[in-house]
Amino acid sequence: MPAHFDVAVVGLGAMGSAAVAHLAARGVKVIGIDAYYPAHALSSSHGDSRLIRLGYFEDPSYVPLLLRAYANWRALEARLREDILTITGVLQIGKPDSKIVSGTRKSCTLHNLPLETLGPDEMRRRFPVFSLDEDEVALLDPQGGYLRPEAAVMGYLKLAAADGAALHFGERVTAVEPSETGVSIVSGTGRYTAAKVIVATGSWIGELVPALRDHAVPIKQVVSWYQPVDGFVTTPQRMPVFIRDEGENGSFFGFPAIGVDGVKVGRHAHFREPIDPNQPNPAVNERDTNLLDSFIRHRLPAAAGLRVRSTTCRYTMLPSEDFLLDLLPDDKRIVVASPCSGHGFKFTSVVGEILADLALDGGTDLPIDAFSFEAMDRFSSPA
Ligand SMILES: Cc1cc2nc3c(=O)[nH]c(=O)nc-3n(C[C@H](O)[C@H](O)[C@H](O)COP(=O)(O)OP(=O)(O)OC[C@H]3O[C@@H](n4cnc5c(N)ncnc54)[C@H](O)[C@@H]3O)c2cc1C
Repeated sequence: MPAHFDVAVVGLGAMGSAAVAHLAARGVKVIGIDAYYPAHALSSSHGDSRLIRLGYFEDPSYVPLLLRAYANWRALEARLREDILTITGVLQIGKPDSKIVSGTRKSCTLHNLPLETLGPDEMRRRFPVFSLDEDEVALLDPQGGYLRPEAAVMGYLKLAAADGAALHFGERVTAVEPSETGVSIVSGTGRYTAAKVIVATGSWIGELVPALRDHAVPIKQVVSWYQPVDGFVTTPQRMPVFIRDEGENGSFFGFPAIGVDGVKVGRHAHFREPIDPNQPNPAVNERDTNLLDSFIRHRLPAAAGLRVRSTTCRYTMLPSEDFLLDLLPDDKRIVVASPCSGHGFKFTSVVGEILADLALDGGTDLPIDAFSFEAMDRFSSPA
């Protein structure tokens, strides 16, 4: 007889680790299974830092989820007695009518969130590492900052184990098979049954969720770290995390010198090159580093010293560049968590709660209507 669980979580990256911890904390008999080990280099949840911000330029409707995410991150830290979230403020830089600047302003106004507007002169005085054009502004969201992704994933798994979850690493799930009595989870080395299954397999989501095969597209994302020329102006105390709207050249993001590697920068969605999740990550090439080198030299000259490290990570994009958090329409015992289109990490702490709600109650009080299969299909079909 295969071992039976109330809930099985397939994939223990950001979303799966948070889900398994939320479930175990509620006293549920839960198993979590991952093909590799926590925060491994083929996952989407490695690389030292992830941005978190409250005045969400993408859409104001994310703000209530973010408020809950902040509370849940603080709850995680309290249980772990460890720092996961550091507030540095987030600067959102661009022309006043750019998507990032106007969207942030709209979100903050609607939700009554504090926001400071800084022009080029004030930026030079307060945050000299940044170089602004005369017609640009920076909006300072004082509640923004960064998260430590590896520590968060590991922390959730530690708590899940302490609360009694069974955690299996190095075990690839090959099939999730619904039957009349439950759902079977078949792996290379085992077979289990569960009343409910959460599938949170990141860039591999299309393999176990055929409904997402044509929609969820893994792409290459590259980030590089630079030794600052001026270490004084790039510390987290003097350099907020930032996002920069570069118009047709896309948007760039970056972090102060948090660890020994220095200042980290990347371009959101990079060159949008699709990748095969079952192949090793494509190597970082000259085109990748040229893009980031020229950005940092132009926009953050005091940080643009020796490039010491570059790495490839994976974004997995849905057509709307949104999230998908829903029960599978064909079988409501299966909960699906998409890897969130390159901006999901900050929500991990609330997504874990949502996935636990969906598995146990079939619904949640948190506002996720925009993240359903129905919404995705509407977006994907021609207007
Ligand atoms: C470079 C980079 C920068 C980013 N910056 C930000 C940011 O600043 N802020 C932000 O909010 N978000 C950011 N994101 C996005 C965010 O990191 C992702 O949305 C998030 O990490 C996705 O987590 P996940 O759990 O869905 O996927 P993953 O962490 O990839 O986890 C999926 C897990 O499923 C496992 N798995 C897959 N298939 C199977 C199987 N068949 N059987 C068993 N296990 C399986 C994998 O081994 C993996 O561990 C960034 C992403 C990247 C790559």
